[in-house]
Amino acid sequence: MKIEGVLIVDPIDGEYIGNVYIEDGKITDVELSDKKTSFILMPGFIDIHTHGAVGVDFLKSKDWKKVENFFYSQGVTTFFPTSVSTSPEEMKGFLESADEKRMYAHLEGPYISLDKKGAQNPKYIKEATLSEVKELLKHNSLKTITLAPEVNDPKIIEELEKKGVRVSLGHSNAKYSETMEAYRAGSRRITHFPNALRSLHHREIGITGAGLLEDFYLELISDGVHVSKEMIRLIYKIKGCDRIILITDSISATGLEDGEYELGGLKVFVNDGIARLENGTLAGSTLTFSKALKNFKKFTNCNLKCLSKVSSYNAATHMKLHGKGRISKEFDADLVILDQGLSVIEVYKNGEKIFQNS
Ligand code: FE
Repeated sequence: MKIEGVLIVDPIDGEYIGNVYIEDGKITDVELSDKKTSFILMPGFIDIHTHGAVGVDFLKSKDWKKVENFFYSQGVTTFFPTSVSTSPEEMKGFLESADEKRMYAHLEGPYISLDKKGAQNPKYIKEATLSEVKELLKHNSLKTITLAPEVNDPKIIEELEKKGVRVSLGHSNAKYSETMEAYRAGSRRITHFPNALRSLHHREIGITGAGLLEDFYLELISDGVHVSKEMIRLIYKIKGCDRIILITDSISATGLEDGEYELGGLKVFVNDGIARLENGTLAGSTLTFSKALKNFKKFTNCNLKCLSKVSSYNAATHMKLHGKGRISKEFDADLVILDQGLSVIEVYKNGEKIFQNS
């Protein structure tokens, strides 16, 4: 198969008009073309932090197929079903589902800080034990976990990282020194920065300051609600394109009308697309990846090469997803065709067309 005459955007080679050859789900060749085109080809988007969409909550429902199709329509070809703090039984069931479906799972909690619980259910929040973590490590799907460094032994982080599970710091009130202890233990990412984190203070820059100053990847919800437009510009100015990972943090209400929903056993009210608990705390988002991309471009005025980094390449690199995140020989043919306004036109996964905007 051949995708002809498109503006290819690769996170390393940059932008050029060309043709892409695909065989057996892989890109076999790319070549330059002198055609004129108005279509953009980018690596399929990767969302490493989503709790669900279109009425499906990954913790509560097994109908993940429905979400998959919705995500495809947004240009997302790889996503990580994400939990919230819940009972050990429900967490186990979630990981078993992900194992079965051969998907990557993200556990957000329960090993987080009560002080920065956000919309997580305090009932289930606790400190990790090594024996518990060893049980979790039996699940092949477990690819990443969000925990608070100040409430857990750094040895837990070391153990997880050693076994190939990426540890992201989040829902945390950590000071700078506590954050850096986790960095030395192998953690290189911060969850939905700077939401549910200790704020930056000029005498104690904390985990937020560490995120900006040190070599962490930062997950970012670019909806303009969780993080203001100016803050997104500031993060972009400091971190550049190489350390930002766009996420949606979407919940089951995504793609649906305003109304009453649930997250981790807590009631969530969605008004004008903004999801909050009864007390006003933001509870995930109803952001789509396609919208996140458009917002980020609008807020930062970055180029397309940069967009391909924050939407796929950085996530693929950090998570060690070999074969993903580039438009280059031998990479998976996970691709999205966009128009000039960055709206999704066509989506391919392993060389197969999985979405067409009619
Ligand atoms: Fe969260």
